[in-house]
Amino acid sequence: MTSTYRTRFAPSPTGRMHLGHARTALVTWLRAQERGGRIVMRVEDIDRPRVVPGAADAIFRDHEWLGLHWDEGPIFQSSRDEAYERALHELRDAGWVYSCTCSRKDIAEIASAPHGDEGPRYPGTCRNGVAKPERAPSLRFRFDDPSPGFDDLVSGEYPEGAVGGDFVLRRADGIWAYQLAVVVDDAEEGITEVIRGADLLSSTPRQIAIYRALGRLVPRFAHVGLVVDSAGTRLSKRHGATAVESFRDLGRQPEEVIGLLAQSLGLTATAASIRPEELVSRFALGDISGSSFAWDPNA
Ligand code: GLU
Ligand code: ZN
Repeated sequence: MTSTYRTRFAPSPTGRMHLGHARTALVTWLRAQERGGRIVMRVEDIDRPRVVPGAADAIFRDHEWLGLHWDEGPIFQSSRDEAYERALHELRDAGWVYSCTCSRKDIAEIASAPHGDEGPRYPGTCRNGVAKPERAPSLRFRFDDPSPGFDDLVSGEYPEGAVGGDFVLRRADGIWAYQLAVVVDDAEEGITEVIRGADLLSSTPRQIAIYRALGRLVPRFAHVGLVVDSAGTRLSKRHGATAVESFRDLGRQPEEVIGLLAQSLGLTATAASIRPEELVSRFALGDISGSSFAWDPNA
């Protein structure tokens, strides 16, 4: 089947692959099979101080062990500075970028809006000139209200105007922000559909604004529910037992992990062992639930 469908795996090598990543990766892999498309492996390693040596290789190994293979890459964001630089210039020339010298503390003190999940909204202090010229500036994107809405393929309508505040494209220490790098890479790699965890829903309106400012085609988005613990807390590195590696170390089989994830996605009635290939015929992206999955390690 010929197809232009392209999606990607975009792990951050800042820790081990855990069940939440594996669940999103399974959906991504199944969707690519459903559409006869291709998957690019992109390693999101721009935040160099947070990169853990060896983590990318460990994540590749976990993907292979689970049977969730990719078609192209890996591409490392750490080797893409020039592309980000070019995009930044383009945005700057078009008037979307300004320097900001506010610290996190400054912003927390000035921001009057209620602080939600995202922390305080940047109030635009430096839009017409930096507040503290003696400091090294970060570069911000003018994110006009109302923020764009979009139709998520899993969670449905995401409303217009739900997020706001000019956001950082490059930090004062020179590190590229995720929002810029991810758009530049998704656009250049010809990604037609982005599948990722629901923690990134609120980033999507920002990314859509960057696509538009760069005059690039906006891909479709599908945000998969997170895996949480019994208290409803998102899995993180603190939850060691949920690392894919821990299952392997305990002698569990990849089919057992896939079985658990398949059931959590409503693809199977039980958590019986199964291979990803066996799930292809019963998979439809629109049928999976966007809600989070509470994993009980004792079940
Ligand atoms: N690197 C991000 C993560 O591991 C995913 C970013 C994305 O898919 O856009 O959570
Ligand atoms: Zn500022």
